[in-house]
Amino acid sequence: MKGFDDFPYMSPVAEGIWLAKGSGKSRFPFCNGFLMLGDRTVLIDAGIGADRIREIDRRKRIDALIISHPHPDHILSWHVLNDRQLFLPAQTPASVGDLRLLGQRFVEGRQEAQYWTWVASSRLGIHPLRRPDHQFDDGDILDFGAIQLQAIRAPGHLEDHYCFLEKHSGTLFSIDIDFTGFGPWYGNPEGDIRRFRDSVMMLRNLPYRQICSSHKLPIDRPDADEAFDRYLNAFDRQKAAVFDLCRKGMDLTAMVRHSPLYRNRMPDGTLQQIFETQMIRKNLALLVREGRIIEEKGKYRPVGCRPPHRPVSEGESTRLLS
Ligand SMILES: [Zn+2]
Repeated sequence: MKGFDDFPYMSPVAEGIWLAKGSGKSRFPFCNGFLMLGDRTVLIDAGIGADRIREIDRRKRIDALIISHPHPDHILSWHVLNDRQLFLPAQTPASVGDLRLLGQRFVEGRQEAQYWTWVASSRLGIHPLRRPDHQFDDGDILDFGAIQLQAIRAPGHLEDHYCFLEKHSGTLFSIDIDFTGFGPWYGNPEGDIRRFRDSVMMLRNLPYRQICSSHKLPIDRPDADEAFDRYLNAFDRQKAAVFDLCRKGMDLTAMVRHSPLYRNRMPDGTLQQIFETQMIRKNLALLVREGRIIEEKGKYRPVGCRPPHRPVSEGESTRLLS
C-alpha cells in the first residue's frame, strides 16, 4: 500500500502511525492529527483542516474519528467525516451538539458566551457534533488490531480532556499537554491548575517511548524529562507573573489589561480578555489559598505588604520578585 511520504504535512511516527501536521503551524484554530493504520484507519482529532482530511481520506479511507476533547481546534473539521464512526469521551456533555450551549460551557457571561459561539460557527465554520457511535472512558483499550490505544483521562485543561498511549509502539499522545512556550492553558471556567498539574505528573510516569502533542513536533524519550520540567515550570512562571501584579496592588480588571500571560499578543482581543480573566483568576485563588496574597476592596497585594502609595516600576517589581 502506498504510504503518505509524498504528503508534505505527514511524517511517520512509528509502525502504522503518522503525524498529520495542522495548517498554520498547528497553532489555534488548528492542531495536529494522528493517523493510525490498524485493522481500521483511525484519525485522532479533526484540527488539521478540511482539505488535509479529505486528501488523506482519498489516499486511505478513514474509518473512524476519535475526538480527544471538544475544544474548537480539535473538532474543527469533524463534519468532513460525519458518516464515519465517531468516538467521544464518556465525560463529554451533550452540549457538544449545540454550539450555543458549548459557548456557555466554555465561557462565563451571556454576551461573552454568544461571542464564542459566533467565532466557532461563523468564523471557524465549526459544525455542532452529532451523537457519537462510541464513548471511551479512562483506561479503556480501543482495539484496532495492530494499533492498541489506551484512553487516559487527563483533566485540568478540560474535564473531558483525554490522552492516549499506543501500547505496541509506546507512543504517548499527550494532546493539549502540549509543551508550547505559552505553557499550560486552563482558560475555561472548568479549567483547574491543580488537576492539570496532576495530569502532567501522571503522564510523565507512563511507559512511553515518544510523545506526540497537538501543537508541537514529537519529543523522543531522552528529551522528555527536560520538556516535562520546562512545562511544569511554566505553571510557576504564570503564577509568578500574576503575583508580580499583586505587588502593584492591582485589581482583576487592571491585571487583565496588563496581560501578564498573553502579553496582548492574541489576535482576537475579546477572546484574549475572556480567557486571560479566567487564568488570572485561578492563579489569584491559588495564591490566596497559599496565604501569599490577600484581597481588599477588589485589589490584591502580598500578605504583609502595605498597599503601595505609588505605582511600582517594572524593574523594581522584578527585583522584588527575585
Ligand atoms: Zn484543548
